Amino acid sequence: MDTSQKYDVVVIGGGLTGLTLAYYLKKAGVRFLLLESNKRVGGVIQTIAENGFVFETGPNSGIISSIEAVELFDELKKDCNLEIANPNSNDRWIWKKGKWHSLPTTIPAGIKTELFSLGDKLKLLTEPFLPKGKNPDETVADLVLRRLGKSFLDYAVDPFISGIYAGNPYKLVTRHALPKLYNLEHNYGSFIRGAIKKKFEPKNPDTQKVSREIFSMELGMQKLIDALENKIGNNILLNINNLEITPKNQPYKINYDINGEPNEILADNVVTTTGAASLINIFHNHPEIDISAIANLKYTKVVQLIAGYKNWHGIELKAFGGLVPSIEKRDILGLLFISSLFNDRAPQGGALISAFMGGERRPDIIEMSDSEIIQIVKSEIAAMLGHSKSEPDLLKIYRYERAIPQYEVSSQLRFEQIARIEKEFKGIILAGNIRNGIGMADRIAQGRQIADKLINEIK
Ligand SMILES: Cc1cc2nc3c(=O)[nH]c(=O)nc-3n(C[C@H](O)[C@H](O)[C@H](O)COP(=O)(O)OP(=O)(O)OC[C@H]3O[C@@H](n4cnc5c(N)ncnc54)[C@H](O)[C@@H]3O)c2cc1C
Repeated sequence: MDTSQKYDVVVIGGGLTGLTLAYYLKKAGVRFLLLESNKRVGGVIQTIAENGFVFETGPNSGIISSIEAVELFDELKKDCNLEIANPNSNDRWIWKKGKWHSLPTTIPAGIKTELFSLGDKLKLLTEPFLPKGKNPDETVADLVLRRLGKSFLDYAVDPFISGIYAGNPYKLVTRHALPKLYNLEHNYGSFIRGAIKKKFEPKNPDTQKVSREIFSMELGMQKLIDALENKIGNNILLNINNLEITPKNQPYKINYDINGEPNEILADNVVTTTGAASLINIFHNHPEIDISAIANLKYTKVVQLIAGYKNWHGIELKAFGGLVPSIEKRDILGLLFISSLFNDRAPQGGALISAFMGGERRPDIIEMSDSEIIQIVKSEIAAMLGHSKSEPDLLKIYRYERAIPQYEVSSQLRFEQIARIEKEFKGIILAGNIRNGIGMADRIAQGRQIADKLINEIK
């Protein structure tokens, strides 16, 4: 074997997780290779400029929720400019009985809102005194019903879960899907007491930098991907196929095809950042590595339709977007007002809207034809946003068969199986959004943490 084909680390998958990891390995001078099956890196992140619009085919925005994201954006600031969402668009709208309502963020607005029932508003006064839950696998819905009430579940939490997971709160387990919410009850005994206490707790400098603002990059998330790709340089190999890891002794053998030719390399450490489905293929010849509890991870099917209007005649889109509770039984999960959030996404006077559909409750939508999907979104935009005067100047549809992993009750077994494999096969690390969160800031955090651990071990 040619020793030039031996690496300290091989990273599999060049989405945000793999690229972040590779960026820090490169910076530390580690001998590594990133293998990507697609013809481009970025994974589900991709920005396209067309016909005067700049739109995302995947995630539209993230939350600055990890110190690792803060540090990465700071390090790359010469190569891509962070864009914080317009503060005038902070409002979140929720659809109820034929009109939009702002999700309240202050106590007076909470008292006035028609989203929640009077009974549940009064019940809120008792929330600080309710006992803690005992079931560690309690679903988000059960937790909210127990502490807040049905109208809070239907008109705040259900649409919020649709917006993040395209998921079902009756199936997602709180400690895995919303660990911060779980910890509020677990550590402080109550959401309200926890929120108040946390406000007055001394903050370390890192926590203060984690602003929880909504972000993208100027001219789109692709700029972040381009910056990472440029920094990583020629340690990336694209268009690889039939990748297989032989999980025997270190160094591990990795086989793949490139340009129709088989290739073999060795690596002391192999980090996978792909989804669960790819792991099945990567280890399919190796029953000694049991990935059954990982392979059964469920993903929601999501359809994203982008509609661009050069002249917007509908209502003023002065919000982040509007979410549609499942109880309202409409065909969309929500509408994001991208041109209100970020600059230069639509021509002056126009609008760029992203409509999300499908998810846990409507997996059938992905099977619909383009014209059926367009018809649904156009009629929802007319009914909900009041624009029916002109046809969209831009229409794009993106279907994701495996969009968002659902952190349901099977998650604990999955995490245990990952931990067992990593212990038994030292140097094999199973990462990506099969664990540690689905948001972009979570992905950056995981990539950075794995890089730090490996750099520490190797150097
Ligand atoms: C439609 C959609 C909307 C979203 N919206 C948001 C949002 O608004 N905010 C937010 O924070 N997050 C959002 N997310 C989630 C977030 O985008 C993802 O969690 C994150 O980008 C995943 O990054 P990743 O690198 O872990 O995985 P991926 O981006 O999936 O990258 C994995 C990479 O591995 C490659 N690969 C797969 N198999 C192999 C193989 N066998 N060999 C080599 N390479 C392989 C793939 O080609 C891909 O490039 C959204 C996701 C989707 C799909």
